[in-house]
Parts: sequence; C-alpha cells; structure tokens
Amino acid sequence: MPALSFLFIAVFLGANAYFAYRVSILMRLITATHGPVWSGTRIDRIPDRIMTVLMNVLGQRAVLKKKNAGIMHATIFWGFLIITLETMENFGYELHPGFTFEFIGPTLFSALVTLQDVFTLGVLCAVCYAFYRRLILRPEGLGKSKDAIIILSLTGCLMLSLFMMRAFRLVAHPDWYDHYQFISVFLRNTFLEPLALSPETAGNISSVFRWIHHFLVLGFLCYIPSSKHLHVLTAGPNTFFRHLDGPKGMRKVNLEDETVTSFGVGKITDLSWKDTLDLFACTECGRCQDACPAHNTQKPLSPKAIIADLKDVLYHNKPAIMAGKPEEIGPVIGAKVTDDVIWACTSCRACEAACPVFIEQTDKIYEIRRNLVLMESRFPAELQIVFKNVENNFSPWAMSPDDRDKWADNLQIKTMAEIVASGEQVEYLFWVGCAGSFDDRNKKVSRALVSVLRKAGIKFAILGKEEKCTGDPVRRMGN
Ligand code: SF4
Ligand code: SF4
Repeated sequence: MPALSFLFIAVFLGANAYFAYRVSILMRLITATHGPVWSGTRIDRIPDRIMTVLMNVLGQRAVLKKKNAGIMHATIFWGFLIITLETMENFGYELHPGFTFEFIGPTLFSALVTLQDVFTLGVLCAVCYAFYRRLILRPEGLGKSKDAIIILSLTGCLMLSLFMMRAFRLVAHPDWYDHYQFISVFLRNTFLEPLALSPETAGNISSVFRWIHHFLVLGFLCYIPSSKHLHVLTAGPNTFFRHLDGPKGMRKVNLEDETVTSFGVGKITDLSWKDTLDLFACTECGRCQDACPAHNTQKPLSPKAIIADLKDVLYHNKPAIMAGKPEEIGPVIGAKVTDDVIWACTSCRACEAACPVFIEQTDKIYEIRRNLVLMESRFPAELQIVFKNVENNFSPWAMSPDDRDKWADNLQIKTMAEIVASGEQVEYLFWVGCAGSFDDRNKKVSRALVSVLRKAGIKFAILGKEEKCTGDPVRRMGN
C-alpha cells in the first residue's frame, strides 16, 4: 500500500473519530432530557413514517413548498447524494489506486458520471443563488448567519475542487468518459489545453485537487455537529418521529398524581427527547417566523428564535448536564428566552405548518407557560382576570353563567336536560362555546347555525345554562 494511503487512513479515521465524539455529546444531551413525549410513542405506524421520510427528505416535498429557496435546497441536497458516490470512489482510490465504480457496468457508470458532472454545476449555481439571497435579497426570516456563509463557501469550494480534479484528469486521460462529462470537458478545453501540460503533470495536479476535496469533505464532517448544518443529520430522524396527523391538542398532565413534583418545562432537561431533537433539526430557514402572526405584528416572539434560543440554553447548561449535576442546571427563562416572548404566542401553530422539518414550537411554549403558572404563579397581570372568570363564571369574561343561553331566547331550542326528561332523542349536541354564547358578533353565528340545522332537518339540543367553558383558553395559558 502506498505511503499516501496510510496518511489518508490516519486523516480519515481522525476526522471520523472527532465526528463520532461530537455526535456522542449530542446524543448525551438528547438522552439527558426526561419530559414526556406528547402524542404517542412516535414509533408507531412505521410504514407511514418511512413514507413521510421518503416524501419529505428524499423527495424534498415540504422544502419545495417555497419555490426558489426550495429548488435551491433540493438541488444542493440531491446533488450531495449523487456527489457523495464520487467522494466514496475517491476515498477508495486512496486505498487502492485506480479504484472506480466502473464495476457497476458501462451504462450505469456513464450515467453516474454524467449526473455527477451536471449536479456539480447545479450545486454551484444553487450556492451562488444562496449567496445572492443572503447577501443581496436578505429576506428578514433568514437573518444574518456567519455559519451559513461558512457552509456555503465550503460547499462552493467542494464543487470547484471536483471540477478541477476532473478537468486535470481529463488532460491526463483525454478519453476517460469524455463524452459523459461535458462540463468538465468544456473546462479542460477552455482553460487547461492552452497550458499544454504533460499528462503526468496534469495527473499530479488532479491528485492534489482530489486531496483538497478529501480535506474539505472531512473538514465539513467535523464542522457539521456544531453548525447549523447539523440538520443534515437530524432532519431525517425528526421527520420520522413527527406528529403524523398533526398536533392533537396539548400535552396532558395528571394533577392528581401526587408523585409528580413539577409541571411543565422549568429547566431545559424538562423537555422531551423529541423536543431536543427538534432543537438540533432547525435549518434556520425562517419560514416559521415569516408565518408567525405575533412576529408579523411586532411582538417580541419569533418561533425561529425560540428554537435557536432554547438550543443556546441547552448548550449553556451542557457542562452541568454532562457532569450529571442536575442541581446546577439553570432555569429556561432568562436572558435568552424571556417572559414577554413566551406570552406573545397566539397558539395558532402556523409556525409548525410552515416548518419543512416538522419542528413543534408551540408545545414547548405551552410547557414553559405551564411551569411558570403552575410552579411559580408567574404570568401577566391581565391573565389573572381571565383565570378568575373561568373559575367563577365558567367563561373567560365577566358574564353571568345564567346568561349563557340568552342568545337562544325565542328560538325554542330544547336543552339536553329537557330531551332526557322527555325521553326524546336528538342526533347532535350543539356545543355553542363561550364566544357563541356571549360575544355579540358570534351570537349571530350561533343563531344562523340553528337556522341551518333546522332547515336541514337535523335534531339537536344545547346544554343551555349547564354549558361551561372547556378550559381550553386557560390551558393554553399554562393553567
Ligand atoms: S403558534 Fe405562536 S409561535 Fe407559532 S406561529 Fe402562532 S403565534 Fe407564532
Ligand atoms: S423551526 Fe423550522 S421553519 Fe423555523 S427556522 Fe427552524 S427549520 Fe425553519
């Protein structure tokens, strides 16, 4: 084996060992969290989960919902898949000079060479567009990210090193699949042929660029676990463990369980493993922030920032977590995640619908609120009135519960109690809700719905004065 092969093995193993070490730290952080995972085990319906990964990761369906940025990302992603085969081939070459994937057959190998050539240019164009977007267009949701600039530069250099390696190789071996890598052939003909290099010199320069490519790939590997590009590793698992049918209400708590001493998320380790995986999966694309009504009306909340800030809180507490000293872990609420941010959320979940990697922002906000309210009695003064009204008047407003059925005056709608007493049957209970019962505008909706039901011949009843607030608004406020 040539001496250079040993050097390559040492560099390769070193980079992979460092990568494995960084990933093991991330795994420790994920497994250190102990909150309950909401909405099932997340390992049910395996075929559906595999399908969603195929559609949304391999197929980039969610990413492509946003046109230009989606095409850019998909090109880079698919390009990397194709080009990784060439990277593996190059690695193999260092161990066994002359190694190629030609054993897959001339037709397949020619197609692979062509795809690699085309996708290298595609990725390069996508990187240029990404720079244009970040530096010239500067959409607000993207924000400024040095990390992104480093990654884009690295990606661009990776593609350029490949083109250089191939073009010089085509000088050394002019007939080597030259009909199948027309972009590299164009580069050779335009820029290298005038230099009139000997085949040996060109071959050596090609090897230098192959080594540059190795170093860039392995450097990228080491950089991934601590960069925003971590989503390369985590977006797939996060998509696999997503809510398959969308979120179903809030996480349940058992207030009667006397063994439970804390509710909600007070410390970062109160999150669940899925919550922590969410933090590592964020691509910082800003789609959630663009969709957020709180952010768009100048509230201090950004769902993108919440995820990034919770990750910062996690990293800040990393020494205590790694040392197994839970008593030294600080509260989630602090300099990064502040009270006013947590209380600005309208709980609409628009952020979750927009997120291409299925991050669940809202449940984290609910759980932090729950801890503030149930453990610290800490919430905006305005909420005190709402909490009291729900407890005393059974609606968020200071309305008498005796007036709950006033909207139905003169409509002769029977209550469920009357139906039961008379032995009659109805098909439906019309649950009116607090707004439909007390809010002047919504009372008109309730009355109109009664007309529709009657016209449709549907038998229904209401609860009348027996109806009470479901408690949903105060649960969303953490109570
Ligand atoms: S759920 Fe909250 S954070 Fe998400 S979009 Fe709505 S207001 Fe914004
Ligand atoms: S949470 Fe999702 S939508 Fe928001 S920035 Fe991260 S990846 Fe993008």
